[in-house]
Amino acid sequence: MPLYEYRCKKCGHVTEVLEKPDASGRHTCEKCGSRRMEKLMSTFGVGAGVRPSGASCPTGTCPLS
Ligand SMILES: [Zn+2]
Repeated sequence: MPLYEYRCKKCGHVTEVLEKPDASGRHTCEKCGSRRMEKLMSTFGVGAGVRPSGASCPTGTCPLS
């Protein structure tokens, strides 16, 4: 079951949510009660192959980079 991080747009509180496949996708901030939560992208599994901007080598293994 995927674990997502949600950040409250109102107070900035970040909470981890185990999201069920049938979940509505709406979450409430446990700190301030705001429903304006945005899903944070996990650091893994997002855009595989995407490099930080500024990297000149596409693979990270180029000897002349
Ligand atoms: Zn909040």
